[in-house]
Amino acid sequence: MDGLKTQLCIVGGGPAGMMAGLLFARAGIAVTVLEKHADFLRDFRGDTIHPSTLDLMDELGLAERFRALPQRRVETFSGVVNGRSYRVADFSRLPTRNRFLSFMPQWDFLDFLAGEAGHYPGFRLIRRTEARDLIAAEGRVAGVRAEGPDGPVEIRSDLVLCADGRHSAMREHAGFAPRAFGAPIDVLWFRLPRRDGDPEAAAGRFGPGRILITLDRGDTWQCAYVVPKGGDAALRARGLPAFRAAVAEIAPFLADRTDAIADWDAVKLLTVTVDRLARWHRPGLLCIGDAAHAMSPVGGVGINLAIQDAVAAANILAGPLRAGPVAEADLARVQARRLFPVRATQALQRMIQARVIAAALKADEPFRAPLALRILDALPMLQVLPARMIGMGVRPEHVFVPARG
Ligand SMILES: Cc1cc2nc3c(=O)[nH]c(=O)nc-3n(C[C@H](O)[C@H](O)[C@H](O)COP(=O)(O)OP(=O)(O)OC[C@H]3O[C@@H](n4cnc5c(N)ncnc54)[C@H](O)[C@@H]3O)c2cc1C
Repeated sequence: MDGLKTQLCIVGGGPAGMMAGLLFARAGIAVTVLEKHADFLRDFRGDTIHPSTLDLMDELGLAERFRALPQRRVETFSGVVNGRSYRVADFSRLPTRNRFLSFMPQWDFLDFLAGEAGHYPGFRLIRRTEARDLIAAEGRVAGVRAEGPDGPVEIRSDLVLCADGRHSAMREHAGFAPRAFGAPIDVLWFRLPRRDGDPEAAAGRFGPGRILITLDRGDTWQCAYVVPKGGDAALRARGLPAFRAAVAEIAPFLADRTDAIADWDAVKLLTVTVDRLARWHRPGLLCIGDAAHAMSPVGGVGINLAIQDAVAAANILAGPLRAGPVAEADLARVQARRLFPVRATQALQRMIQARVIAAALKADEPFRAPLALRILDALPMLQVLPARMIGMGVRPEHVFVPARG
């Protein structure tokens, strides 16, 4: 069995893992990121780059190179009820430098982070290598056992950062089980062509028994069709023509192109989970991102929180890690810093899931737009509040750890 030694071993090359990899490598730490896939090409992973992340690109001096990547800017978000549009979020009112959401394929963003991290000598990304177990030594986690293309490999490290997503196997090996809060919905993702003359804004369309979110991705609309929990099988059983008709009914401007949903393979199910670990750490190991807290898709903030966790972890741990294994009290500081934003966001998401989304899905006749939507539309200055929650989140992080690459 081959062996590697590094200061920090990160399991998972998603937004949390790649951002952490970049920040720790920039701080002069030897980092190895293990990613089980050969590339970052996964469809419908969430393509939102939030204003807080764009601000981080500025802080890291990467803004110019980041802006050169193909992306789509979105400044407003609307709710459409019974065909009438209500503007609910206006990102151009945010009190920050980047006052818009950027949409780009997540693989482009992750490739970008990997490329930037690769400029630091301590950074190594090992693809096609799946962490399978933890190495324990002297009462702490001392690395991981992984399986790569050439067989088993051991990576010994002073700290293991579990950023392996919402089905994290590493947290199970660490003895952690998340508390699940339940979610009344699942989401079906698909794409439809976008044409000149289509409505401008990204929007959530609400009608009796159905909700469709349409996100502007340039030449396509990325569409999220919300179903009651477990409703996917019944919907598929009713057949594709019925599904196309339901999409056309809630978004009439798409009626002329629903044939682009060629078969059910074009429609991907996201089983919605909202959960959280009570404890994110044990000696030698810390969970961040979805591995510590799976977010509801409401508001599209999972990537934001994953990245913010990575920034907090680097700010707090890069200094201690330089001196060797990190005290568990430092790992606890990362959880303490991030717990409130996660709790507050999940509480808000659960409230919206129950009061707005589940209620719309249960309705069998047209309903009035919720009061909050009507107030936000009538008072544009209030549209900064949802924009802030989505675009910056609770307690946005800033990079404090200096570059030492
Ligand atoms: C269909 C869908 C749509 C979404 N839409 C949005 C959106 O619009 N906006 C938004 O902000 N969020 C969205 N999200 C949520 C968002 O994608 C996640 O919150 C975010 O990706 C979490 O980042 P992460 O790095 O913690 O985990 P992940 O992105 O899940 O990354 C984990 C990585 O770890 C790797 N991995 C797993 N196990 C191992 C192992 N044992 N060894 C090595 N590698 C491993 C995986 O291959 C993966 O690359 C969406 C999620 C889904 C599923």
